[in-house]
Amino acid sequence: MVDLIKYVRKGLADAPSNPILKFSDYAGKIPDVVKFTLGEPDFNTPDHIKEAAKRGVDENHSHYAPSNGTIGLRKAASQFLSKKYGQNYDPETEVLVTNGVTESIFDSVLATLNPGDIMVVPTPLFPLYMTDEGVINEGVEIVKVNTVDDGFKLTPEKLQKVIDKYGDRVRMLVMNYPTNPTGVMYSQDELDALADVIRDKPIFALCDEIYSELNYDQPHASMEKSLHDQVILMNGVSKSWAMTGYRIGIVCAPENILQQIAKVHQAIVTTEPTPMQDAAEEAFKNGMDDALPMKEEFQKRRDALYSGLTKIGFECAKPQGAFYIFAKIPEGFEQDDTKFIYELVDKAKVAVTAGSSFSEGGEGYIRFSYAVSMDQIEEGLKRLEKFVKENKK
Ligand code: PLP
Repeated sequence: MVDLIKYVRKGLADAPSNPILKFSDYAGKIPDVVKFTLGEPDFNTPDHIKEAAKRGVDENHSHYAPSNGTIGLRKAASQFLSKKYGQNYDPETEVLVTNGVTESIFDSVLATLNPGDIMVVPTPLFPLYMTDEGVINEGVEIVKVNTVDDGFKLTPEKLQKVIDKYGDRVRMLVMNYPTNPTGVMYSQDELDALADVIRDKPIFALCDEIYSELNYDQPHASMEKSLHDQVILMNGVSKSWAMTGYRIGIVCAPENILQQIAKVHQAIVTTEPTPMQDAAEEAFKNGMDDALPMKEEFQKRRDALYSGLTKIGFECAKPQGAFYIFAKIPEGFEQDDTKFIYELVDKAKVAVTAGSSFSEGGEGYIRFSYAVSMDQIEEGLKRLEKFVKENKK
C-alpha cells in the first residue's frame, strides 16, 4: 500500500493534535466525573434569540446570505460595539461575519501574515493561536512571551524587547482580554502603553475580545480605543449569549484590511448559516444586557471556587473576567501538569485542563473552568481536598 501520509502538506503530519480535546475525550468516558474543563457557558441561549432562529427557518431564510454576513447582523453588531464599548466600525465595509471567532482568527492570520513574518503571542494563552504552527500559516514564526512573572500580563518592556530583537519581521501582536486561561483583564492604561510600543509600526494588533461581557471587577477596556487603525478586533456571541453551537463570530477592521480578510473567508467558508445570523442579530440588537444574570452567577462561582482552592492549598490569582481560574499545582506534588490531571481524574474523578496546553508559562499550572453549577463546584472541591490530603508528599 502507498504510504499516503508522506504526501500530506509539509509540517502538518508532525503538528500536534489538540491536547485539550484529547483529555476531554478521556475524562468524558469516566462516569460521575466533575468537569472543570468546559470552555463554554452552562446556560441556555435566551429565549428571544432562539425564537429569532426559529423565525428565520420558518420564513425560509434558507438561502446563501451575503458572504460578509447579513447586513442586519453586521449593523446590529456594529451598533452593539459602539454603544457598549465606543468602538466604531462601518457595518457596510468594516465588519465581517465568520464561523465563530475561531474562523476570525484564522482568516486574519492568513490574510495578513507572510512566510518569515513574526506573530507575538503572550503566553499562557488559548492554544488556537499556537496550533497555527505547522497547521495553517506555514512559514510564520510565533514568538512567545512568557508572562508568568508579570501576573500573566504582557508588559510594554517585554514587547519592546521582542521588537528590538526581530525588527520589521514583527507583524502581529496577539491580545486576548479577558484572557483564557488566566481570567486576567488589562486596564485601559495598560493597553494604551502596549499600543504605544507598536503605534505607527507595520504591526497589527489582533484583539480577541470574546469574553468582553464577562468582567467582574473593572469595566472592559480595549486596545481599539487607542490604536484603531492597526487593530483587528474580534468578538462574538459564543460566550456572552451562551451560543457556542450557533457558530457566529465578528471581525472588524479598517476597510482595506477587512476586505482582504473577507477574501479568505469567501474562499474557505463562503457564508454562515442564515437563521443563525438572524439569531445573532437578535442577540446584538435586543440582548444588550443578556449576559448580566449569567455574569452574576459566574461571579458567585468564581468567589466560591477561588476561596475553596486557596483553602486547599492552591495558589492562584483571583481572576477578573471570563470563567477560568489558573492555579499552581501545590508543593508536595510532581509539577508535571499533564501527569497531574490524569492522576486527578483517575483517582478523584475531577477533570481540569493542563496548564501546559496553553504553552510557555503554563507548566505546573492547571485551569479550572467555573462554567459548572455551584453544586458541582462544592462536590469538586470536596474531592480535591481529599485528593490533596491523600496524595501530597
Ligand atoms: N477566543 C478565545 C480566547 C476562546 O477562549 C475561544 C473559545 O474557547 C474562542 C476564541 C472561540 O470562540 P468561538 O466559539 O467564537 O469560535
